[in-house]
Amino acid sequence: MTAMADKLDYYEVLGISRTASDREIANAYRKLALKNHPDANPDNEEATLRFKQAAEAYEVLNDAEKRARYDQYGHAGVDGGGSQFHEVEDIFEAFGDMFSGGLFGDLFGGGRRRGGRRQRRGADVRSDVTLDLEEAARGVSKTVEFTRSKSCKTCDASGVTPGSSKQACSRCGGRGQVVQSAGILRVQTACPACQGAGAIISDPCRDCRGQGYTPARVTLDVAIPAGVDDGMRVRIPGEGEPSPDGGPAGDCYCFVSVRQHRLFERDGSHLILRLPMTYTQAALGATIEVPTLDGPYELNIPTGTQPGDVFRVRSQGMPDPRGGARGDLLVQTYIEIPKKLSSEQEALLRDLAELEHANVTPHRKSFLDTIRNYFAPASENGEDE
Ligand SMILES: [Zn+2]
Ligand SMILES: [Zn+2]
Repeated sequence: MTAMADKLDYYEVLGISRTASDREIANAYRKLALKNHPDANPDNEEATLRFKQAAEAYEVLNDAEKRARYDQYGHAGVDGGGSQFHEVEDIFEAFGDMFSGGLFGDLFGGGRRRGGRRQRRGADVRSDVTLDLEEAARGVSKTVEFTRSKSCKTCDASGVTPGSSKQACSRCGGRGQVVQSAGILRVQTACPACQGAGAIISDPCRDCRGQGYTPARVTLDVAIPAGVDDGMRVRIPGEGEPSPDGGPAGDCYCFVSVRQHRLFERDGSHLILRLPMTYTQAALGATIEVPTLDGPYELNIPTGTQPGDVFRVRSQGMPDPRGGARGDLLVQTYIEIPKKLSSEQEALLRDLAELEHANVTPHRKSFLDTIRNYFAPASENGEDE
């Protein structure tokens, strides 16, 4: 089975009889195209398919010679002669006149694809910058370096060796577009001889090889907003590649990396600080000087602080680059056990241990009881003591 066998009958596609007049064919196509137009049916693949099928049917049936061959031989008669509209854009190219002021009026703004060559925007370029956390917190001006094209001075961006000139393309007569006619259908495409430029360079500039542009190293100062995070991009408008045809330049996107800080870990707009304290500080309470991005801060640790307790220092985190509230500094405590003790410390700790032993014995006993109860049968309970 060939693909052709799956093709729908063109008369059925347009919903007309085999004796339909040219006017009926055009009317039927107009109705279908309006109904299934992609602008009226966004993201509707079925409508797009019907739109394409109708265009294909119309292209054949509206052409007397093709229609005659189709009537006699079916799809085989026009295969290769009829357009295969794979892309909706192709249909606008082929029926551009009809979509703008022609058969359909300007209902869908079909003229947007006509009216001369559209100016293209230059490409975007990338640059990179690496910051310290402090710089990211305050915002900073950084110098970045990257490569982009600049007009060739030798040829004044014309691409032509000075003294010579471009020749108008003979294939398209300098228009850059060629029109292929089939019946009333006009298919307009970029000229294959000059790639749409409309002119041929026979003696290209040696410095830019006819491009009109040469790569150049660019140095720029970028204002990095306060609060910027690792992986964010800062857009520098208009600092990308120049447009190939006089349109606006592209943008430069500056990719930001933020170095890891030795004290602070970032979590969104908050900063996390892991703070060591001694057993005595945790048990007795203390005022500890902690670092913040704005300098030292006196943090009050209450008595009986547990390892892992978190204290919040308001508004000592990172600023929001979009102007929101500043984050907090979250101080998470942990108990540091000394690896070496002075003889005095050891003596005091041993005293403390003895005191604790005496004090906590009842607790300890009940704890041991709990374990015994857990492992031993209930009947033997208490007999060992
Ligand atoms: Zn040049
Ligand atoms: Zn040409």
